[in-house]
Amino acid sequence: MAEPILRVAVASPLHRLFDYLPPRGWTAALAPGMRVQIPFGRGRSVGVLIEIARTTDFDPAKLKRVQAILDTTPILPDDILAMARWAADYYHHPLGEVLAGCLPVLLRRDQALQPQGETIWQLTEAGRTADPKDTARAPQQARALSFLAEHPEGVNRAQLEAALIGAHVLRALLLREWIERSVRAPATSAATHVTVNAPPLNPAQAEAVDAIQTARGRYQAFLLDGVTGSGKTEVYLQSITDCIAQGKQALVVVPEIGLTPQLIERFQQRLGHTPALLHSGLSEGERLNAWLAARAGDAAVIIGTRSAAWVPLARPGLFIVDEEHDPSLKQQEGFRYSARDLLVWRAHRDGVPIVLGSATPSLESLHNAQQGRYQHLSLPERAGAACAPRLHLLDIRNQQLDEGLSPALLTHMRAHLERDGQVLLFLNRRGFAPTLLCHACGWVAECRRCDAHLTLHQRQRHLRCHHCGSQQPIPVQCPQCGCTDLRPLGAGTERAEQALARHFPDYSCVRIDRDSTRRKGRLEDLLAQAASGHARILLGTQMLAKGHHFPGVTLVGILEADQGLFSADFRAGERLAQQVIQVAGRSGRAERPGEVLIQTHHPEHPLLQQLVEAGYPAFAQAALAERQAAGLPPFSNLALLRAEATDASAPEQFLMEARDAVDAKSATGVEFWGPVPSPMERRAGRIRAQLLLVARDRKHLHKLLAGWVPRLSELKSARKVRWSIDVDPIDLF
Ligand code: ADP
Ligand code: ZN
Ligand code: ZN
Repeated sequence: MAEPILRVAVASPLHRLFDYLPPRGWTAALAPGMRVQIPFGRGRSVGVLIEIARTTDFDPAKLKRVQAILDTTPILPDDILAMARWAADYYHHPLGEVLAGCLPVLLRRDQALQPQGETIWQLTEAGRTADPKDTARAPQQARALSFLAEHPEGVNRAQLEAALIGAHVLRALLLREWIERSVRAPATSAATHVTVNAPPLNPAQAEAVDAIQTARGRYQAFLLDGVTGSGKTEVYLQSITDCIAQGKQALVVVPEIGLTPQLIERFQQRLGHTPALLHSGLSEGERLNAWLAARAGDAAVIIGTRSAAWVPLARPGLFIVDEEHDPSLKQQEGFRYSARDLLVWRAHRDGVPIVLGSATPSLESLHNAQQGRYQHLSLPERAGAACAPRLHLLDIRNQQLDEGLSPALLTHMRAHLERDGQVLLFLNRRGFAPTLLCHACGWVAECRRCDAHLTLHQRQRHLRCHHCGSQQPIPVQCPQCGCTDLRPLGAGTERAEQALARHFPDYSCVRIDRDSTRRKGRLEDLLAQAASGHARILLGTQMLAKGHHFPGVTLVGILEADQGLFSADFRAGERLAQQVIQVAGRSGRAERPGEVLIQTHHPEHPLLQQLVEAGYPAFAQAALAERQAAGLPPFSNLALLRAEATDASAPEQFLMEARDAVDAKSATGVEFWGPVPSPMERRAGRIRAQLLLVARDRKHLHKLLAGWVPRLSELKSARKVRWSIDVDPIDLF
């Protein structure tokens, strides 16, 4: 009988599987989802077996053999394999790369499917009964023995280091066979006990929890649309408690910045389980361990960022996506997928309920709810004693601003601080100033490699580009006219911090942005100072705006709302509204009422008026009507083909050729907008352009893409550019 053909997905830009023969004389079982080691190109690679076929399009005599089958059982269950195939089709991305992206890094290599244990040291029987005389002349060994005797359960490297026991001492003791080393499986999701009890739910919360429980064991998507502080997290917690009680696992996906120690602690206290964590701050070993615990069913609750949507679960029971509107749920490079949309697909496939929560739902999800695809659950009021904050626009036209702070804002700040309130100021611009200006000739510092200004970072004494990362020293004189009167233009968080120290010397201020939190553990420190009320003024970028619960904050100031009002991106308005409402939501979360002041040069702008007068739901309704009139998402479907190259004409050439490569028949129902230069045409020394595809009917778009995308790399001009396809792009950069 002919040997079976193994179809393998390998990380490669090619849109196809690769055929191999099994290792010679292989008789053991083979199944899709096992990893295989294969010769690939000039080296070798690890791929995932996708299909076992009888025939091949190639000459079977020329097929290479798999070098090793790495697993005895599939490492990926059926649902994840199916989701990978679906995602490869939907996002038009090669399956091998999709799979590589969804596996923990260690499993992309030939790492065995075992937890990465930690090494521990313990006394042996001989060590326990060693005669003290034998170590009389080795005091360090004696000390190590007595330390280990106090810890019969074993100690790890960190504990040894803390006790100042060096490696040479351990070696000596190992040689004498008084101690032994072993590898212990790490604890990932230990059941602890509930230390904080659930509050009684208010009627809206109870209704939501009830609806979610009613959907146990079947697919149902919910949009949990609850104003900030309305108790959405409480709804998650009680739904998860129910899920665990059914013996199932709950998976919670949060945006990058949402995964704070505060949130994890709250889950732990309330659920009586240490959640398994999956995020980029962990070591590869820790991530593998959490992944394995989820896959084995040992972890009852898994909390993670975007890539956690891919984690296998032995007994899936409930999916939750918190802050479902957040752009960080969409991967913006390489394999560009939306973790939210994938999880909805997965919930359907696994037959479990999924909850998408937000105070500012995306227009896509609101539309899905209005179409009846999602069940709309709303929490219209704040939970407990808190009430909704009042929003006001502060007209700053003709006002004397001090580093971006208006006199009216300063007066309000003082009043709140004197009444023991905390003040939170939002400025989505880090650094000292957005750029440096020559007062004599008007020269501004621009990046040599991007169409962008350089940001002045006073503390680090350099100018830096926030788009390509390049930096240079601050010039002492203008490169254009030689004048030395160079002035910072505008204010970033660093500069606002200085002004605040000047105005409020008696109140401590913390600044939270990417610069101030670079060091590991620093963000946690600063957030703790903010939450405890120790810091009285909190200043920060969007890192400060999302999800946090600062009960002492009574005043929120938004230093600049105008940036988002005039952007070319059709989603800018939605983003601005979400940002304003999310930041505003940090105020008045406890007994004391909150106030929100929004500084603007455009107090008459309809978007701001609407937000302040009627709130987010009214804004969203109006925005949906505009999108419908303009034929934009969610009333149409987009795909964006981007190209970039150092050669200025290559990107447009490629995009033109790509557009011409579409045959008229498959173009039915799809419009082409462009090619046009990207909004930031030059970035990191490359010229960028894009071609937008718009279709009312998703099927038309996907039919076209399926035939077209795999052929793009064969175009003559493709060799001169880097290109990518982005399905459902969330920004048009
Ligand atoms: P959200 O996730 O919508 O921002 P949270 O669940 O964090 O809201 O709740 C906001 C605050 O209200 C928290 O301090 C929470 O403990 C409290 N809270 C939530 N639900 C209730 C309730 N039913 N009774 C009393 N307090 C509640
Ligand atoms: Zn000059
Ligand atoms: Zn740059």
